[in-house]
Amino acid sequence: LAQHYLNRIAASDLNAFTHVDPALTLAQAAHADKLLAQPNPHALAGIPIAHKDIFVTRGWRSTAGSKMLANYTSPFDATVVEQFNQAGMVTLGKLNCDEFAMGSANENSFFGAVKNPWDKRAVPGGSSGGSAAAIAARLAPAATATDTGGSIRQPASFCGVTGIKPTYGRVSRFGMIAFASSLDQGGPIAQTAEDCALLLNSMAGFDARDSTSLEHPNEDFRRDLNTPLKGLRIGVPREFFGAGLATDVEQAVRAALAKYEDLGAILVDISLPKTELSIPVYYVIAPAEASSNLSRFDGVRYGHRAANYDGLTDMYKKSRTEGFGDEVKRRILVGSYVLSHGYYDAYYLQAQKIRRLIAEDFQAAFKQCDVIMGPVAPTVAWDLGDKADDPVANYLADIFTLSTSLAGLPGMSLPCGFGQGEKNSKRPVGLQLIGNYFSEAKLLGVAHQYQ
Ligand code: GLN
Repeated sequence: LAQHYLNRIAASDLNAFTHVDPALTLAQAAHADKLLAQPNPHALAGIPIAHKDIFVTRGWRSTAGSKMLANYTSPFDATVVEQFNQAGMVTLGKLNCDEFAMGSANENSFFGAVKNPWDKRAVPGGSSGGSAAAIAARLAPAATATDTGGSIRQPASFCGVTGIKPTYGRVSRFGMIAFASSLDQGGPIAQTAEDCALLLNSMAGFDARDSTSLEHPNEDFRRDLNTPLKGLRIGVPREFFGAGLATDVEQAVRAALAKYEDLGAILVDISLPKTELSIPVYYVIAPAEASSNLSRFDGVRYGHRAANYDGLTDMYKKSRTEGFGDEVKRRILVGSYVLSHGYYDAYYLQAQKIRRLIAEDFQAAFKQCDVIMGPVAPTVAWDLGDKADDPVANYLADIFTLSTSLAGLPGMSLPCGFGQGEKNSKRPVGLQLIGNYFSEAKLLGVAHQYQ
C-alpha cells in the first residue's frame, strides 16, 4: 500500500509534498506488517498518512514551508505524529503548506505553489493546500492539517475533500509549529467524514505538554455516523449568503441544504451579525500572536543563519530578513504594531473584545439550531497568481471561516458539488458545518448522512 502511494507521489506534478523519503516510509511499512500479523491490530495500522509540514517529525525535515527551517530536522515528534505512529500508520512524507500556515492559496510557500488536482490552473486553497491536494489526487488516503482561520476547511473545499477542525484544545499543539496559539488547531483531511472520524479518534485527546489542551473524556467520533437526521435543526446564517457570495457556490450550497431537508432536517433562518468584523479582528489577533511566536527564529539555536554579519543584532536582522518570506514579514510588522504602546488598546484589546462578542453570537444562534451550515468560501478556487500580490484579497476570502476559529468552535467542510469559476472549468464547492463546542461526533454524523 505504501509503495502504491509512493509511486503515485513520484508521478505527480502537483508539488504537494516538501519532503519524501521512500526508505523511511518502507521501513515503517515493514514494521506495520509485523503489527498487522499480531492479533487485534489497530484500525489504522498499516494505513499510510502524510503530515502537513507544520508538525515536527523525527527523522524527516520539518520546514513549516519556510526558508527559515528549510534544513531543519526535529529531534522529537509532535504529539499528533506520535499518536499516529503508535497506531501503526505509515508516514508517506511532509506536505507543502503556506509559510508558517499564513495564507489562503498555498502560494506563500518557500517550496513553491501547490496545484489544484481538479484544474492545475487553480490554487488548492491554503494554508493546508498540500494536504487537500494530496487527498484529492489520491497521493495519500489520510493527511494531517491545521486550521487557524480556515486552513483545513477552505483547502478541503477547494479540492473537493473532507476536513474537520475540532474544538480548540482537543488536538494537541505540542510539536505543531506555532502561528497564532489561541487559534491554531490540528485536524484531519481525508476522503470522507467516516475516515475523518477514525483519524480523529487517534488525533484528539488531552496532552499535558500543551498548556491549552482540554481535559475532556476520549470518545469514539464514529458514534453518530448512523444517527438519523429527522428533526435536526440547521441554522442558515443570513450573513453567509449576502453580496459577495458567487452564484455557483450559492447554488451548490442551497442544493445541499435542500438535500438535508429531504433527509428530515429543518432549516432555520439565523443571524451571526458580527461575521464581517471577523476579518479585521482575526487580522489583528493572528499577526499579534505570530509576531510573538516567530521571535524565536533568531538564527541562534536553529533555523537559517546569515553567512556574513557584523555583530549579534546584525546577525538577527540578516537571518530574519533572508529567512522569512513577504507575508510572514507583513504579519510580524502588523503584529508588532498592534501590540506596541499607544496602539495596544485601540487595536489588540478592541479586537479581543469583539472576539468575545463573536463567540456570544454563536451561543445565541445555538439556542435556535443544532448545527450551522453555509458556504466555506465565497468563491470556488481562483487561478494561480490571480491574488498572489494582493494580500487583502486573500484575507477577504476568509470571511466565512474566521469567526468559527475566533470562537474556538468545531467546523468542517464536505464536498457538495461544483462551480465553474471564471474559466468554465469544474471546481469543487464545500459545504461548511459548524457545531457547538465538543460536537465533533455530531458534525461527522451529519456529514456522513449526506455522503
Ligand atoms: N488564511 C488565514 C491566514 O492566512 C488562515 C490560515 C490558517 O488557518 N492557518 O491567516
